[in-house]
Amino acid sequence: MDFHFSEEQELFRKAVRDFVANEVAPVAAQLDEREEFPVALFKKCGQLGYFGLRYPESVGGLGADFTTFCLMAEEIARGSLSLAAAVSMQCLMGTDFVYRFGTDDHKKRLLEPALRGEKLGTIAMTEPDFGSDLGGITTRAIKDDKGWMLNGRKMWITSATVADFFTVAAKTDPDAGFKGIDMFLVEKGTKGLSVGKRIHKLGVRASETSELILEDVRLPHENLLGQQGTGFKNLGGILAEIRTMTGALALGLAAAAIESSIKYAHDRVQFGKPIAAYQAIAHKIAQVGTEIEAARGLVYRAAWLVDQKTPDMKLSSMAKLFSTEVANKAADECTRIFGSYGFAMEYEAQRYFRDARFLLYGGGTSEILRGIIAKEMGV
Ligand SMILES: Cc1cc2nc3c(=O)[nH]c(=O)nc-3n(C[C@H](O)[C@H](O)[C@H](O)COP(=O)(O)OP(=O)(O)OC[C@H]3O[C@@H](n4cnc5c(N)ncnc54)[C@H](O)[C@@H]3O)c2cc1C
Repeated sequence: MDFHFSEEQELFRKAVRDFVANEVAPVAAQLDEREEFPVALFKKCGQLGYFGLRYPESVGGLGADFTTFCLMAEEIARGSLSLAAAVSMQCLMGTDFVYRFGTDDHKKRLLEPALRGEKLGTIAMTEPDFGSDLGGITTRAIKDDKGWMLNGRKMWITSATVADFFTVAAKTDPDAGFKGIDMFLVEKGTKGLSVGKRIHKLGVRASETSELILEDVRLPHENLLGQQGTGFKNLGGILAEIRTMTGALALGLAAAAIESSIKYAHDRVQFGKPIAAYQAIAHKIAQVGTEIEAARGLVYRAAWLVDQKTPDMKLSSMAKLFSTEVANKAADECTRIFGSYGFAMEYEAQRYFRDARFLLYGGGTSEILRGIIAKEMGV
């Protein structure tokens, strides 16, 4: 048993940390305020090879392990959860179906440029009336001689305003339950595809989120990603990675919040002493610090299991559940330690507090995850 990251992983983590400290953290507040997609930083992440980390060299990736990928997600989230949200979408859910099930042409025209940061991919599953209940979606895909026709409305789609291609979940057989769900590749500019209302959000405001509308969208047969009837099963193939990665994002935000809390506690003097000298404040930091370490253990154990080719649904669900709740606690305690300055927009504590909420939804809400964990435990 070995609890160390390899030298290569540590070197990579340091390189990402330096990039984030020098180029991301200094502009994170401005990006959030302007609610503006960080185009230049996003492209830079592509140039640095981050988007191709978990893909093989045959498609222009770096062929790194999943643990290294999680280290990258954690470090970017430390600087800006908005950027990290867009990056993680591009690295995993937004490109994975094209990698696994796209044609050579799809890979050449879309995936490979996406891994270089020249094109952007995202996933569109959620609908106005169906979030956790993915099996209920009503976007319909109907087959004929020429291919497929899609109709429906998607909600909460990350980076939709700037995306070049979408992996869209639709029902090919409304009577087949989860087996009736499939994934389709839809490119920007396809007739009938439009981006609807942009959602102005509480947090991760520099990650743009919108509605997506599909009206008589015609697609060739080969844009069905995977064999018909396997879309949900194929999503399951990356679910442990999605949950573990979200756990890594949570670790990054929690680390930023606690570091900020420690610094403030040393700087702020009340009753003649830095507030860090008061046990009430020191114990908050000790408690959150302990919980972050516990979360880190869960996340990287779940990542290690992915690397061993034995992804574990229970453990990755626990990693996501525990670390995202810890991130919310770390951000909450940070705003308390900052006192009324935690309520001021000019300090970073409020951004951590707002951004942390984002971690609670995608990849399964805490309520849904508890249900899954209980089931995995035989309850
Ligand atoms: C910023 C942001 C970006 C997103 N990006 C994307 C994206 O790019 N693509 C995409 O497809 N989706 C995206 N989503 C959507 C996200 O995946 C959903 O929000 C998530 O699946 C939860 O669905 P919902 O919000 O509709 O909540 P609901 O499913 O309506 O749940 C509402 C509440 O009920 C609880 N609940 C629901 N069912 C049960 C149950 N069976 N048992 C107990 N409690 C239950 C939930 O836990 C929650 O507390 C994004 C969301 C956000 C906030």
